[in-house]
Amino acid sequence: MRPNSIEARDVAYHLHGYTNPRAHEEQGPMVIERGEGVYVFDNQGKRYIEGMAGLWSVAVGFNESRLVDAAQNQMRALPYYHSFSHKSHGPAIDLAERLIDMAPVQMSKVFFTNSGSEANDTILKMIWYRSNALGKPEKKKVISRLRGYHGVTIASASMTGLPNNHRSFDLPIEGVLHTTCPHYWKEGRDGESEEAFATRCAEDLDAMIQSEGPDTIAAFIAEPIMGAGGVVVPPATYWQKIQGVLAKYDILLIADEVICGFGRTGKMFGSNTYDIKPDIMTMSKQLTSSYFPFSAFMMNERVYEPIADEGNRIGILGHGYTASAHPVGAAVALENLKIIEERDLVGNAAERGAELQAGLARFADHPLVGETRGVGLIAALELVAPEGAGDARAPGALGLHMNRIFHKNGLISRNVMDAMAFCPPLIITQQQVSDMVDIVEKSLETFASEVA
Ligand code: PMP
Repeated sequence: MRPNSIEARDVAYHLHGYTNPRAHEEQGPMVIERGEGVYVFDNQGKRYIEGMAGLWSVAVGFNESRLVDAAQNQMRALPYYHSFSHKSHGPAIDLAERLIDMAPVQMSKVFFTNSGSEANDTILKMIWYRSNALGKPEKKKVISRLRGYHGVTIASASMTGLPNNHRSFDLPIEGVLHTTCPHYWKEGRDGESEEAFATRCAEDLDAMIQSEGPDTIAAFIAEPIMGAGGVVVPPATYWQKIQGVLAKYDILLIADEVICGFGRTGKMFGSNTYDIKPDIMTMSKQLTSSYFPFSAFMMNERVYEPIADEGNRIGILGHGYTASAHPVGAAVALENLKIIEERDLVGNAAERGAELQAGLARFADHPLVGETRGVGLIAALELVAPEGAGDARAPGALGLHMNRIFHKNGLISRNVMDAMAFCPPLIITQQQVSDMVDIVEKSLETFASEVA
């Protein structure tokens, strides 16, 4: 790094999340300068297919001028207003109505927040508030899943089921429990069918509820397909069985649609794909294509009514953010949803998704590939250590190595340990899917020659 270069200044002044700080001091940043469709360009002018849509989030690609115009127009009309003490504005009202219309089940109200973490954090507070309103102060615990990802604030990181989000942060907080991860490839036993594994997952959940006391469990939170935990596709019959258990004990179901929402799985929501009937749904990322930090959650009447009663009893619902329902974010979201609808990006995700899954499946028998998996435009290729490597390879080392090869070949992926994740913008074309798969193939060849 040259002194005073942009890279050196990044190292000098910028602490990055999800980055090893000491390694960053050595290697510096990869500086991205601009985007175009599914591509981004670094400050050397090198072009990459953004195979992760940023962080699973840029549905419409990296230079959609309609979103820029929507933001600009809203900035000029009303750049900011809030939603406290009965205030409102057109974009918030239009968006709330639109989201309720789109919901996979009958929903009642939308609450606006600014990130996925903040949304899930707020949901936990609302659930506690609701249980108090119902005169059930002991009904406060929430069950999430090992490897689930729900954010990084104190409550949402507690619901996240990944060691790096807990270790040294003194998390999880009390009252947040983690049940079995439905990762058939990793957790399924020899000879156990997908259905039998799904039954076991549901039985584990039931046993946890029983041992904790059903009256103490308020909610279960889960992503329809786990994203950041490694693209974990639920085994056949999983959601049906899990919902059966929750119904037995009057436990609310929170579908965290932060990644799956707005077309990612080839249907509008992951809940549509798996016939999930949530009481609460978390939304962010593809809602604005991440052009603006924005999130929301919807709740049904069963959730809303006691909250409204409690707010009325106290005199006010004592929660809300300065930027809740930010008019610029809401305007961007509305335009983004319009584009998703007009261009049938959900249909494109289904078609291009099928091509991506089939393309990756060609590598499933490669000696260094454990499995490939995915639904729609979210996928993973699981790397395994070569024969005889024994314990010598630290978990995640293969993934990091592969990521470097992908970069060299012009593809941005994300390694979740040794699972290479793919989650490209929903606008991706057939040719671009084919280019992505070609890069994976070429990279696997290099990888095999370097690690074997
Ligand atoms: N939920 C899910 C399913 C997510 O994937 C993420 C982010 N990866 C979050 C919540 C947290 O969102 P944010 O990073 O905006 O706080």
